[in-house]
Amino acid sequence: MIVAGVDLLVAPGDLRLGVDLVLEEGRVAAIEPAAPRVGDDVLDGRGLLAMPGLVNAHTHSPENPMRGLGDGLALEPWLARLMGESGPYSAEDHYWCALASAAEMLLCGTTSVLDHVGMTPIRDGGFDGVMRAYRDAGIRGGMAPLFSDRDATADLARHLGVEGVGATLIPQQVPAVETPEAIALTEDAIDRWHGAEGGRLHVLAGASGIQWASEDLLVGMADLARRRGTTMQLHVLETRVQDAACRLRFGGRSGVAVLDELGVLGPDVSMAHCVWLEDEDIALIAERGGVVVHNPAANARLRSGRARVADLLAAGVAVGVGTDGAASSDDQQMWFAMRLATLLHRGPDEDWVDCPSALGMATVGGANALGVPGLGTLEVGAPADVALVERASFGLAGARELEASLVLSETGAGVRHVIVGGEVVVRDRRPTRFSLDDVHAAIAEQRERRLAFADPDGMAPVLARIEAMRAALAEREGRLVVGS
Ligand SMILES: [Zn+2]
Repeated sequence: MIVAGVDLLVAPGDLRLGVDLVLEEGRVAAIEPAAPRVGDDVLDGRGLLAMPGLVNAHTHSPENPMRGLGDGLALEPWLARLMGESGPYSAEDHYWCALASAAEMLLCGTTSVLDHVGMTPIRDGGFDGVMRAYRDAGIRGGMAPLFSDRDATADLARHLGVEGVGATLIPQQVPAVETPEAIALTEDAIDRWHGAEGGRLHVLAGASGIQWASEDLLVGMADLARRRGTTMQLHVLETRVQDAACRLRFGGRSGVAVLDELGVLGPDVSMAHCVWLEDEDIALIAERGGVVVHNPAANARLRSGRARVADLLAAGVAVGVGTDGAASSDDQQMWFAMRLATLLHRGPDEDWVDCPSALGMATVGGANALGVPGLGTLEVGAPADVALVERASFGLAGARELEASLVLSETGAGVRHVIVGGEVVVRDRRPTRFSLDDVHAAIAEQRERRLAFADPDGMAPVLARIEAMRAALAEREGRLVVGS
């Protein structure tokens, strides 16, 4: 197909006005001077800006029916509520949650997603539900499993003199699976889905986080990713509690240092959040080529802290952007995430993140997490994942500096057509492959059904114990001294 007469932003800083973008076999085949074109395979690009589709490098689709949950709570109490109040998910539930994420993203020009999926209970059908949704939606979809098999945060609570926190801080999966089974379930999903749909679908290895995973799970998943030629994702040092839990469990060492000692840290492993990094952690991530995924909305919403994004970029680290799940951000809007990824990093006396960098993070940066060469640009040979944005729109009609206007002005409302792998999946603002009404109805039904799991009286003492743990940690001036 040919997008004719379009203004093409190949990558930040590389704008070609009025060209024909030729797409063949799912890739950018050529960028040619505009010529008169007619035919079914011609999409009129006049008045539109073609830009690389955005890459949402971290989310959790099962949170779609749990939006707005626990406003004001920090991550740990919020997580206890999320785990306690969401209830079980069938394969069908996972399907509609993932389709809802895909729909919200595609309509605004996000063409790739990395969905970090926890299943409750664990059934292989849950993975299949997610992957069927991404197959049907037409998005470039990756899924990393969120398995937990050990809880260092409960150990931290006991160490701080708070009893009864137990399993409330760990992403719960009932019944729990043994570590080898978690790895086997993941490999089975890789067998059936990784590389399907012409390479559009990805199954990654994954774990919930260092503080919630055994060494066997972390190493086993990294080995699996490398053996099967895929990538891996996990949460890393999102909160002060997680940092302290890691240091308690690993003799004062940081989570990043532990990942490196285990041989996990590398360019094929993406680490969501990385809020609580020391200088040496940043240097180590840069040296090993590790990938960081910044989730500014969720970090702000859950009061986790502010990731050192400017320092990471200055050190040469590959940084992507994620929305995080819809119960912590509370949408799947990469334009908003991208805007926060620059605006939150502009203090008066510090290095800062400019708009071209934010746009780069939300495209090529996040593509590193999926491990797809060329993804995130529209250079010849790159995957044909294109967002076509109206130039006559609130976001762009008055644009003086294009990259700045895309990041600071555009909201996604100007996105008219979306192409993934050379196929038009959104045309004139409507998805071509599924019904939006069905998606909204399914999520509304799940929301209603899950309300039955809310238990304010039962939850109150749990939240009180978790807050007591956070208060005890804060009293130690933010850094746990092991053995003190
Ligand atoms: Zn997350």
